[in-house]
Amino acid sequence: MSVPEFELIQRFFTRRIQDKPDIVLGVGDDAALISPSADQQLVIAIDTLVKGVHFPDTTSPYDIGWKALAVNLSDLAAMGADPTWFTLALTLPESTETWLTEFSRGLFDLANQYNLPLIGGDTTRGPLTITIQIAGAVPPGQALLRAGAAPGDHIFVSGSLGDATLALQLLAGELPASVADYPELLAHLNRPQPRIAEGRALRGIASCAIDVSDGLLADLQHILDASGCGAEIFQESLPFSSAARQLLDRFPEMWRALISGGDDYQLCFCVAPENIAHLKQMAQQYDFDFTEIGRICAARELRCLDATGKAVDVGARGYTHFAEENQ
Ligand code: ADP
Ligand code: MG
Repeated sequence: MSVPEFELIQRFFTRRIQDKPDIVLGVGDDAALISPSADQQLVIAIDTLVKGVHFPDTTSPYDIGWKALAVNLSDLAAMGADPTWFTLALTLPESTETWLTEFSRGLFDLANQYNLPLIGGDTTRGPLTITIQIAGAVPPGQALLRAGAAPGDHIFVSGSLGDATLALQLLAGELPASVADYPELLAHLNRPQPRIAEGRALRGIASCAIDVSDGLLADLQHILDASGCGAEIFQESLPFSSAARQLLDRFPEMWRALISGGDDYQLCFCVAPENIAHLKQMAQQYDFDFTEIGRICAARELRCLDATGKAVDVGARGYTHFAEENQ
């Protein structure tokens, strides 16, 4: 059943906003009204998901709602910010009640984890596209930037790498295995868990950070470019999930795809030697899952070393829109 625009906004995207003194006015007027905190810096990010580009046509509306917000939260996590509000621009081919019910359920299930209010948006008709703009707050000068890595810094990632890429390859039938046998890989692809708590705990400890959205190699390269240095990563240290390891046993060459594929939404960050003890203590206190994967070096290249210290070829790097090979 088709839902008219006004009713659609009212029913699916208007929620009571609680315990948010900075939000003067949310959904319903010509614009939202915010009183930003004077003693915090405002952090803004925006990310769009396009059907068929950022998620397969078969993705459920619940997962689309979840993921559209998760990728934005992940950008705030990478800045070390606390999320404060978001807006939603939704382009829909049709306003189906069941689709909207499930989409908004996925969206608010994740938003509610952070008591994160939706304060406004726009609704239009067209090919399915979801844009979310998110705002966060960080104490002045404490945001985690891409620049800041220095030779000698230790490089870490949260969680495991490549699970979403593997799920995509299984869904596309590119591996002789069934995605049904690996539900945890599919969960990584469809319901990434943004590393907000980790990002904020890394303030004052990490020298730089980025979220891994385009693949470890590509995103670590952004840190290196911004910081004017290079890195050595250790093949043996790369954190892969048990499901990924099972597949790697059968298809050992796949490890390259796991560090060049996208959609991990983990954090990659660097820590100076004098802050390592602090990091370890913090990770233990909060039970965070961080793995050291390499070191920053002065020579401006990114190399991967095997267990014997020999450089290994890592092949292609990450996903790029408008790259020649995509056209
Ligand atoms: P206008 O024509 O003045 O832009 P809209 O009908 O687009 O008004 O929006 C009316 C109100 O509903 C605004 O507060 C807007 O922010 C909100 N809104 C519209 N679409 C959405 C959406 N998809 N999610 C959340 N709020 C929305
Ligand atoms: Mg509008």
